[in-house]
Amino acid sequence: MRKIATVEGTRAIISKYPFAFQKKFGQNFLIDPQVLDKIIDAAEITKEDCVIEIGPGIGCVTQALLEKAGKVISIEIDNQLIPILEEQFGAEPHFKLIHNDVLKVDLAALIAEESPNRRIKVVANLPYYITTPIIMALLEDELPIESITVMVQKEVADRLSSKPGTKQYGAIAVSVNYFSTPELVVDVPRNCFMPSPNVDSAVIKLNVHEEPLVKTNNVKQMFRIIKAAFLLRRKTLLNTLAAHGDLGIDKERLKELLDESGIGAQTRGETLSIEEFARLSDYIDEHR
Ligand code: SAM
Repeated sequence: MRKIATVEGTRAIISKYPFAFQKKFGQNFLIDPQVLDKIIDAAEITKEDCVIEIGPGIGCVTQALLEKAGKVISIEIDNQLIPILEEQFGAEPHFKLIHNDVLKVDLAALIAEESPNRRIKVVANLPYYITTPIIMALLEDELPIESITVMVQKEVADRLSSKPGTKQYGAIAVSVNYFSTPELVVDVPRNCFMPSPNVDSAVIKLNVHEEPLVKTNNVKQMFRIIKAAFLLRRKTLLNTLAAHGDLGIDKERLKELLDESGIGAQTRGETLSIEEFARLSDYIDEHR
């Protein structure tokens, strides 16, 4: 079969069907075979793996995944693309197409039903309008996923892999680091897509930890603290947590707890690592 991830391959398919690009679905198809090779190499797929692909489009990544993986489950929202994908890959016994919004799919049930005994890897050129909700759902639902190799906006890749104290560091970077180790695979210029988006992109790989990096007694409370800490940037932890932490502790006692924990009431949330957030949350839990 002809390679889809090229200008000619993509044109040949879309001219054969009554297809029109849907901006609302973030459709920018990859047309650079070298970038595709880098995604596939980074994902380290073997026949032992089941790959979940989010947003297959006309199937340029799917085509490469089917060559490497034991099973490929592709989830696509756009009606127009379903017959195209069925025609290209419907005869492959290890291909399963789900026509749905990925955020409405019960991925835990899907994995249990379709591939209970394989390692699960996620590979995708993500639709940029919902990148963060998709990544957070994959991580926070604690699915049996080994790694997530995805194309995202360059700016999002920088945010996800940012370090404490930098401008990009935020609640999302803290969560991503709690569940995984992010690794930047390659920067991808906008001309590698059809149509070309207004921003540059990057491929990022999240190597999901078998056990979270940091132990905490109360994960929910820790994430409440993290979200509150970044809600009002440049404010002290004492002020943001007193206003938005929902901890049920008065401001005076909160100041004491912050100081006693060694974190400090005047510290700003954006300078704390995941280990420090866990330490603070546990200290508050034990001494409130
Ligand atoms: N994988 C193809 C490629 O690399 O050329 C297409 C990538 S394109 C950036 C994003 C794809 O995600 C589109 O096919 C789009 O229709 C699909 N998509 C958008 N929103 C979705 C959603 N909520 N659930 C599933 N697929 C979605």
